[in-house]
Amino acid sequence: MLLQNKQIAIVGAGPGGLTLARLLQLKGAHVKLYERDFDKYARVQGSPLDLHDESGLAAIRKANLLNEFKQNFLPRADRKLITNERAEIFFSDHDAKPDENFGSEYFRPEIDRGTLRKILLESLQPGTVQWDSHFISLEAENEGWLLHFKNDSTVYADIVIAADGANSKIRPYITDIKAFYSGITMLEGNIYDAEKAAPGVYHFLNGGKIMAFGNSKDIFVGQKGNGDIGFGASSRTDENWATDSGLDFTDYKQVLDWFKITYSGWSPIWYELFESATTPFIARPIYCAPLDQTWEPLSNLTMLGDAAHVMPPFAGEGANVAMLDALELSKHLTSGKYNTLKEAIAFFETDMRKRAAIAAAESLENGERMHSEGALKMMLDFFNGHS
Ligand SMILES: Cc1cc2nc3c(=O)[nH]c(=O)nc-3n(C[C@H](O)[C@H](O)[C@H](O)COP(=O)(O)OP(=O)(O)OC[C@H]3O[C@@H](n4cnc5c(N)ncnc54)[C@H](O)[C@@H]3O)c2cc1C
Repeated sequence: MLLQNKQIAIVGAGPGGLTLARLLQLKGAHVKLYERDFDKYARVQGSPLDLHDESGLAAIRKANLLNEFKQNFLPRADRKLITNERAEIFFSDHDAKPDENFGSEYFRPEIDRGTLRKILLESLQPGTVQWDSHFISLEAENEGWLLHFKNDSTVYADIVIAADGANSKIRPYITDIKAFYSGITMLEGNIYDAEKAAPGVYHFLNGGKIMAFGNSKDIFVGQKGNGDIGFGASSRTDENWATDSGLDFTDYKQVLDWFKITYSGWSPIWYELFESATTPFIARPIYCAPLDQTWEPLSNLTMLGDAAHVMPPFAGEGANVAMLDALELSKHLTSGKYNTLKEAIAFFETDMRKRAAIAAAESLENGERMHSEGALKMMLDFFNGHS
């Protein structure tokens, strides 16, 4: 076995890194996972994730965690309303969808990111995750690597796997190819205790999600498990809009005024989102790794998930592909099919790049469609064919 007596270091406890740690431990590998968050109680930010049957859920099944997933997902959070800018509803599947339909390719159950992290963490052997381990640099030593962390600690590992997300500090040791700006920036907000803080939007949302399209701009709203509502307002703009705009993202009034001007013609119903959000808002320029990227494989270092192939969020694929990467990498490393680690990593990376390029192309196309003049009609055509 390629991994016998090898110490594996995974950096990053996102969906990709945690899934990999679990799958490798099921195969008896020696794994440590290094995460910059201070401890397991760190609040995991971001919208809930919908897991897809052929990727995210396939990894959950292989990790023997489907029961835990079923006990913790957010039933009905996958139901959606599609509206125009005036909040007029053109599509709703609230009454049509069954509560759960595991095994169907169209059933994409939602789960809070924090809950998914908890399920995966609890499945790992005690002591696997080294919290407060902010990776800084790598140094070659013997056949492996010394990893240096911000807290001044250093560890040796025979194999290092970068799962440290879109701004990976390990990726530059593998390739200097950089992600490009997609042309779209999303302004994200979160509303705590939304039933009280934003009752209008809360009741309109009805526990699911809203996708609103108008004037080549979008708003996405989604229910979270803890009673919060997350939302994002996305539009085409310059890469440096967040700084160039001069907006103070801690001041909701400034952001609301920006919204009223930029989203002119949008109903005042949406103002409640900005009036009730906890500040600061986060401006997120959306990036994508080049679809034709390639690099030479190494024998002791690889990457997966956003570190390897960040993509726009408009097809809901990023976390799903990251988890499928974990599933595929664990298979390649433990199948007994390859003579060397370098060979196993080379086959994994070639497959991963192909898979990711398909998902990224779809994500870019969706981003284009969703921010075009005909967005509403195109999205209605799509969902009427796929609900
Ligand atoms: C607005 C938005 C909505 C999205 N919606 C969806 C969706 O619905 N479905 C979907 O599948 N995907 C979605 N995505 C994409 C998804 O969030 C990512 O693709 C996914 O989280 C990638 O997983 P990962 O494990 O590769 O990296 P991450 O989730 O980014 O995890 C990286 C981990 O590494 C840690 N880390 C980072 N740097 C270091 C360091 N130097 N040292 C140690 N630890 C470090 C971080 O703290 C983090 O825990 C969305 C993305 C955005 C921006």
